[in-house]
Order: sequence, then structure tokens, then C-alpha cells
Amino acid sequence: MTTLLADDWIVARKKHRCDACCGTIGAGDVYRRQRAIGDDGPYTYKCHRLCDALYWKMHRESGLWDDDAVDDGELRRELALIFGVLTAPASDDRERSR
Ligand SMILES: [Zn+2]
Repeated sequence: MTTLLADDWIVARKKHRCDACCGTIGAGDVYRRQRAIGDDGPYTYKCHRLCDALYWKMHRESGLWDDDAVDDGELRRELALIFGVLTAPASDDRERSR
């Protein structure tokens, strides 16, 4: 079970890594930052606006419940189709809960 502690849209003051596409969130970019406590402890999830929008589009089209998450691999494949590049898998598979 995951407990969401904070869910904010932030203007980046420095570079970050997008947890959805593994790309760089540049300084000055607006990104989504979620802080939560999952089964493995606290974590922070950061992603681009476009990656977040695609996530929720896929979530809607899949007919998932609010608590269900889009598969990270499926999201990365869709992002790769959009950007024309294959993104590296995340170092760990964090659970997304919304
Ligand atoms: Zn991204």
C-alpha cells in the first residue's frame, strides 16, 4: 500500500531525472513531484508534464481503477514511440499510486 504525502507541480531549479522516460528534466522546466511512502519506504517520483499526461491518457483508456497503475514498461514503449528513442529502464520499479 502506498500513502501519498505530497503531489506538486514544481519549477525545477536544477536538473532532475524523469522517472517515467528516464530523460532529463531541465532547470526551469515544470515537472510533477510526488512524495509517498510505499511498501519499501519513502520515495519521490518526478516526471515531465508530457509523461504525466501520457500516463493518465493510458490510464483512462485502459479503464483502470484509481488505485491501479499503468505498467511502467508499457508507458516507456509509448514514450519511445512518441520521442522516437528507446528509453532505459528505471533502476527500480516503483509503485505508482494515485
Ligand atoms: Zn519524462
